[in-house]
Amino acid sequence: MKTFGWPAYRANQVQGWLQKGCRDFFSMKNLPQSLQEELSQHYRLHRPAVLRHQVSQEDGTEKFLWGLYDGNSVETVLMRYRYGNSVCISSQVGCRQGCAFCASTIGGLVRSLSAGEMLDEVLFTELESAAKVSNIVLMGIGEPLDNLDGVLRFLYLVNRPDGRNIGMRHITISTCGLPEGIRALAEENLQLTLSLSLHAPDDETRSRIMPSNRGVETVLTACEAYYRKTGRRISFEYAMIDGINDSEAQADLLARHAKRIGAHVNLIPLNYVEERTLKPSPAKRIQSFQKRLEQQGVNVTLRRRLGSDIDASCGQLRRKYTKREKA
Ligand code: SAH
Repeated sequence: MKTFGWPAYRANQVQGWLQKGCRDFFSMKNLPQSLQEELSQHYRLHRPAVLRHQVSQEDGTEKFLWGLYDGNSVETVLMRYRYGNSVCISSQVGCRQGCAFCASTIGGLVRSLSAGEMLDEVLFTELESAAKVSNIVLMGIGEPLDNLDGVLRFLYLVNRPDGRNIGMRHITISTCGLPEGIRALAEENLQLTLSLSLHAPDDETRSRIMPSNRGVETVLTACEAYYRKTGRRISFEYAMIDGINDSEAQADLLARHAKRIGAHVNLIPLNYVEERTLKPSPAKRIQSFQKRLEQQGVNVTLRRRLGSDIDASCGQLRRKYTKREKA
């Protein structure tokens, strides 16, 4: 507003409209017409199109496929919990990290999302589902730390008291563990939850299923630094894959890592992905793996599956639609 010579409060007015979902400068009733014209000459507003909206019959989980301004699409999932609603948002169109079990990376990275596009995922999920969001997890498509500038801008925007006002403690960032990204995030010293997709405690296995692995030791050291700087405990995500990462020796090594940095472990039964050959560990093995961790004093939870009838689970987003469209 200042560069156009308008008073700063005009910016708050525009923000108020954007926040309500208005995507047309000429409908912003409290702006003078000359400002509406000036803005429309310099900026394009886009309303993400609802390409698909699915509601789980099992648990009310909702999934949106959004059409972006350039024809790309990303997904957002809304999960309803007793303590409030959580929204799982995407940070990129596609992904370049190449994890062997994940559907989001199959077509590679197309581009990163802007802060505004991520904010729109939250706002339009709320508007379309008439649900108030209290928690945000960056666990959809993409690697958030591969889009750190966009993600940081998004965090500050969604956190603003005069904006969506969601507290940092209600936001979780999930990462495949890019050490320099973790360190840069630590520098911001935010009260976020950082969740490390560890998935294997030893380098041989981890590099096999996660080609972005830069060494378990390097990643853990970065997490340790994050914890020291922010005082926020890290959590480990660990997808249980049959015969790959579910041995007793791996449970013991995982327990060592978790105790070293005081991390909480979240076990996830691997979700089946059509194009992938990996299989989930049998329920019995998951149980004994969990028990073995607990016996060593590790704080473990088993992730509940939500929205499995609408493919809303981890690693399954976006693929079907793009495939069908291509066909
Ligand atoms: N790139 C980030 C966030 C996106 S994925 C990351 O790697 O953390 C969110 C979580 O889903 C990650 O822990 C990821 O490893 C996991 N995931 C991906 N595919 C999965 C599958 N088929 N089954 C279970 N979890 C999966």
